[in-house]
Amino acid sequence: MVLVEPGHLELQEFEVRPPSPEEVLIRTRVTSVCSTDIKVFHGQVGSARYPVIMGHEFTGEVVEIGSEASRKYPVAVGDRVTPEPYIPCGHCPWCRTDHHYHNCPTVGLYGISLTCDQPPHLLGGYSEYVYLKAGTLLHKLAPATSDLAGSISSVVGNGVRWVKTLGQMSFGQSLVISGAGSQGLCALAAAREAGVSPIVMLGLSSDQARFALAREIGVDYIIEVDRQDPLQIVPDLIGGPPDVVIETSSVPSAIQTAIKLVRRSGRVVSIGLSGGKQTPITFDDLVWRDITIVCGKGQAGNVADAMRLINSGQYPFDKINNFHYPISELGRALAETEHPPTNFIKGAVVFN
Ligand SMILES: [Zn+2]
Ligand SMILES: [Zn+2]
Repeated sequence: MVLVEPGHLELQEFEVRPPSPEEVLIRTRVTSVCSTDIKVFHGQVGSARYPVIMGHEFTGEVVEIGSEASRKYPVAVGDRVTPEPYIPCGHCPWCRTDHHYHNCPTVGLYGISLTCDQPPHLLGGYSEYVYLKAGTLLHKLAPATSDLAGSISSVVGNGVRWVKTLGQMSFGQSLVISGAGSQGLCALAAAREAGVSPIVMLGLSSDQARFALAREIGVDYIIEVDRQDPLQIVPDLIGGPPDVVIETSSVPSAIQTAIKLVRRSGRVVSIGLSGGKQTPITFDDLVWRDITIVCGKGQAGNVADAMRLINSGQYPFDKINNFHYPISELGRALAETEHPPTNFIKGAVVFN
């Protein structure tokens, strides 16, 4: 399914050829629909190039491995794998850092920056086959791991990043997660795994499906911010202000609440995009109360941890993508991601 230019999807056919020596060819099983796809669809992502086959959160079955690639990747035909979205060069100063290789100046991004107008054409998850290029960081699914759970390896990697890398959280610290979407739910699982406790999730009263999954993952408290004021309730619930707030909703008022809510010398991890809206922050509050705000994106260096979480089978990651679509209905999948119907958490294109 080719995005010929912003706003214009078209089903096209390409010939599937054997992979080059450096490539791995996979047959796509599941591609998770990301809110970034919506921005690429509307032409709002600076790194996006067209025509493009979108889809950067996917899992597939290895069909054929190039001769060079077979020396580099410990995978066999038939294995199910999920690539990281970013393809780093592996040599520049950014690529020699643990957590910042997504800043590589020549980084490639499946489904976003890699166009389909030249061979091997198939470089995004909304295609029945995908060529994994040289430099791809590849992770294997355990036999019991579902394709759905594997497809969100980068989203779970985000959750690990917000908690571990940016939040610097450890056993026994308290956390408030603002926003009950896939980012919040994956952060919740990562926090549980790290021994973070207690954990409070903030959402809206319309988020009941998300809250049900949050309870299954192991949240301690849920607050519906359209009914209750977290600034009043959270300190009572957990015996004081939280050590860390992870703000995923990007609603300007939620960013301000996060700063007011966190304890003195605490950290606010702010990862939402506001679509260009400005958010006033009173810096005196940050300085007087000694608050650290840390922002960021991506999952560089966090997906291996994410795969351990996913492959452990301890968390119901396969329930995050609770709306499924055939590839022919990608347009509807994108529309419902942009304007979610009742109980929608996250969508996925499921291939036969
Ligand atoms: Zn994504
Ligand atoms: Zn690089």
